[in-house]
Amino acid sequence: MTDLSMHEQLPFDEGTAPSRVSTGELPRAEEVQQLVTEAYERYRATADGTVADYIPVLAEASPDLFGISVVGARGRSFEIGDVDTRFSVQSVSKPFVFALVCEAVGYESARHHLGVNSTGFPFDSLMAVELNDHRTMNPLVNAGAIATTSLVPGADAAQKFERISAGLSRFAGRDLSVNEEVYASEAASNLRNQGIAHLLKSYGRLYFDPDEATDVYTRQCSLEVTVHDLAVMAATLSNGGVNPQTHERVIATGVCRRVLAVMATAGLYELSGDWLYEIGMPGKSGVSGGIVTVSPGKGGLATFSPPLDVAGNSVRGQLVTKYLSDRLGLNLFASEPVDPQA
Ligand code: GLN
Repeated sequence: MTDLSMHEQLPFDEGTAPSRVSTGELPRAEEVQQLVTEAYERYRATADGTVADYIPVLAEASPDLFGISVVGARGRSFEIGDVDTRFSVQSVSKPFVFALVCEAVGYESARHHLGVNSTGFPFDSLMAVELNDHRTMNPLVNAGAIATTSLVPGADAAQKFERISAGLSRFAGRDLSVNEEVYASEAASNLRNQGIAHLLKSYGRLYFDPDEATDVYTRQCSLEVTVHDLAVMAATLSNGGVNPQTHERVIATGVCRRVLAVMATAGLYELSGDWLYEIGMPGKSGVSGGIVTVSPGKGGLATFSPPLDVAGNSVRGQLVTKYLSDRLGLNLFASEPVDPQA
């Protein structure tokens, strides 16, 4: 973009003067496990919401599946329920692929190519493309996400996908693979995402062939994860970009904080404001029923429960996340008056 706004020109160089970081800690291990168990028992019987069916194979998921995993920035896991069940990552892939693109092209360039503001529209909105001069506004809604995927380095679709799959596997700390049935099911009914990709191409805001970019994006959404994998991925974002279980650096610290900023602006799409208001943490949801949230310095929380509300976010996931954000002290906006005597 040509019109740099004021904050983009501020003479701030974190390369030569590393920024100070101030975060907190999770409660004691026994307390975390107890609260995770409590959250599970509390919302286990909740039967609200509907399993997504716009990708036909997703409709086969049992509404009873329910798992919670917390992975601390020190690498400990606290979990309960269906923690080994595999499901397709769907939109929860978006912030992690954005992270890989920032890592490859630099977070400034990524911002200029993709945008980082909230759209205020649902995840697959075309209006958000039409109404904004920059066309893509955020990597976490489908338009920006397909544009993000199109920016992944690679000479062809296979190389781009390989880069995504290897990168998301480093976030998870194990090799992830595609659920071919989910991929085929979405690929067979993908006109809307293809339409978004072609529209972006017509505006010069897509950086690869539109059909191939959509195909790579669909494969990325079909990578299979468990709720534990998602918590490790989130914990990597809570730990300055280093996977706290494998100790591998996945992304730079400066990239990590930008990914969280983008998750705060649009991780829950048009309801991101409500989400921050209630939960106070960057988060990302997906239509197969996963939600991840990140509390910087403390850890990552992931939930899995397929029934969704009308906005496409897991009902039990939102309830559990709200409960644990509060009880584990994860809300970024929460403070208490300091004791002037202490
Ligand atoms: N693959 C899905 C799509 O693009 C992901 C959507 C989601 O999880 N919100 O339609």
